[in-house]
Amino acid sequence: MIQIKNLKKSFRTEEVETLALNNVNLTVEEGEFVAIMGPSGCGKSTLLNILGMLDNPTEGSYHFGGEEVGKLRENQRTRIRKGNLGFVFQSFNLIDELTVFENVELPLIYLNMKKSEREQKVNAVLERMKIAHREKHFPQQLSGGQQQRVAIARAVVTNAKLILADEPTGNLDSKNGIEVMNLLTELNQEGTTIIMVTHSDRDSHYAHRIINLFDGQIVTESQNKPFEVNA
Ligand code: ATP
Ligand code: MG
Repeated sequence: MIQIKNLKKSFRTEEVETLALNNVNLTVEEGEFVAIMGPSGCGKSTLLNILGMLDNPTEGSYHFGGEEVGKLRENQRTRIRKGNLGFVFQSFNLIDELTVFENVELPLIYLNMKKSEREQKVNAVLERMKIAHREKHFPQQLSGGQQQRVAIARAVVTNAKLILADEPTGNLDSKNGIEVMNLLTELNQEGTTIIMVTHSDRDSHYAHRIINLFDGQIVTESQNKPFEVNA
C-alpha cells in the first residue's frame, strides 16, 4: 500500500534548518497496524503528515497504492486523500460550531454524496462508535473519550482504507484510551490499515509492528503479537 524511499524532510526557518526526517525507508502493507514511537521532536508527526499527503518530502519518493504522490496534480492528491485516508489527532480536531452528526457528515459533503446516502452512512457509523445518542450535541458538550469516538467516526465514514492516528489516546484517561484502542483494533481486523504515532507502551502492543524513530531516522523495528480485543 505504502512505499517510502530515501525520504528526507527539512524545515527552513529564517536562521535554522531542521532535518526532521533523514533518509527514511518504510513499506506498509494493506491490513497492517503499525505503531511509530520515539522521543519528542524525532519526526513522528512530520512522517505522519507526509503519509497523509498534508505535507511534501524535501527528497525521496512516496508511493501510495502504486502512485507516486509527488508526481500527482494537487486535485488528484486531494481526491486520493478524501476518498482513502482518515485522520485522528490527539486533540480530536472536531469543529466546535458543528454538531456531532454534522462533524461526521462533513467528509461525505466533500465527496459530493447525496443527502439521503449521507444520513444513512453517518447514522450507521455513529451507532457503531456508540455515540448515536449524542448526535445533536456539540463537541464541547462531550467527554474526551466521546469526542475521540466522534473523530474516529469522521475518519472512517468514507470507508477510509488507511487511518493515520497521531497520539490518539494522548488526552484520554486509561479507560477511554483502551476503548479507543479497541475500536482501532476492530477496524484493523476488518481490513483498515492503521498507522499510529504513540508515546504509550500499552498502546504500541495493539500494533503488529513497532517502528522506532530517533533524530529523524528509523533505528529499530520489531514485530508484535497483537492483543486480543476485549469486547
Ligand atoms: P512530539 O512527540 O513532540 O509530537 P514529533 O516526533 O512528532 O514530536 P515533529 O513534530 O515531527 O516531532 O518535529 C520534528 C522536528 O521538526 C522538530 O525539531 C520540530 O521542531 C521540527 N518541525 C516540525 N514542523 C516544523 C515546521 N512546520 N517548521 C519548522 N520546524 C518544524
Ligand atoms: Mg508529534
